[in-house]
Amino acid sequence: MIIVMSPLATKEQINNVEEKLVSLGFKTHPIYGEVKTVIGAIGDKRLLDTQLITNLPGVENIVPIMKPYKLASRELKQANTIIQIDDIRIGDDELIIMAGPCAVENEQVFYETAHKVKKAGAKILRGGAFKPRTSPYAFQGLEEEGLKMLHTARAETGLKIVTEVVDTRDVEVVAKYSDILQIGARNMQNFRLLREVGATNKPVLLKRGLSATIEEWLMAAEYIISAGNSNIILCERGIRTFETATRNTIDISAIPVVKELSHLPIIADPSHATGTWKYVNALSKAAIAAGADGLIIEVHNDPSKALCDGPQSLKPERFAQLVEELKAVALAVNRKI
Ligand code: PEP
Ligand code: MN
Repeated sequence: MIIVMSPLATKEQINNVEEKLVSLGFKTHPIYGEVKTVIGAIGDKRLLDTQLITNLPGVENIVPIMKPYKLASRELKQANTIIQIDDIRIGDDELIIMAGPCAVENEQVFYETAHKVKKAGAKILRGGAFKPRTSPYAFQGLEEEGLKMLHTARAETGLKIVTEVVDTRDVEVVAKYSDILQIGARNMQNFRLLREVGATNKPVLLKRGLSATIEEWLMAAEYIISAGNSNIILCERGIRTFETATRNTIDISAIPVVKELSHLPIIADPSHATGTWKYVNALSKAAIAAGADGLIIEVHNDPSKALCDGPQSLKPERFAQLVEELKAVALAVNRKI
């Protein structure tokens, strides 16, 4: 439920309400808005005499949160959440582009690609060091060695780093070398992992599960927020459908639906959604037109030699061209790149 405080409520009154709720066994999440503060209270409301809270000084009213995801819901927080990493703001007017190869493969190719995506306008560099592969015989990533290359590329280019963590045991080391922890589609419902990244203070890129409903996806976000970390960027990366012409089917409607249901920013991954570089341009534009806050795109210096996801990777020149073309689409929806 949401405790709505009066616009005139003092800090002391807000603290007092929080203390009362905590003493009754609730977890509290205050949200300080421009006009008023609301306190999200998560717990068993059957144990609560709501009159007790309503009568506290500074309380305006109590509103139940109907959705099963409470802290991720727009019912609790009306303003958009903006994830700030130094001067980068994800969820604000400026669209944020993340780009880079599927996996970090070798130093020279990686740094070259990093410089090129930066020049084209990317703000965040992607590259997997721990790869969740369908086949146990496929390239699994360079692990810590790959993380170190990401770290060097960060220092060389100034780009921030997003990289996937696939196991609870690696959260610490991945957090050490990166700016955003990626939870891949296959791990969207790995609840221990969600809790573990929720216990860090790093932003989390939470990809939609292969066959997850929007509600399941927001419940996954709820795990992370309820563990203490509300810096979540959702990522629509296509879902399984009967259609086989593309690797997955991008759910464009998820973008406005999520925007309505949640205050969290959402980006799209047209690379994994299509599996084919040729379609990445069109779907990037569609996602931005639908209201996405950014994109994550696979770019490889030489896709024909990529160890992972070459067929869906753009060459740097095509990526640069795409970013140019996206500027007009961004403008049409009152955003900028
Ligand atoms: C990836 O980003 O390389 C990846 C494995 O994505 P997903 O989890 O969406 O399949
Ligand atoms: Mn990939």
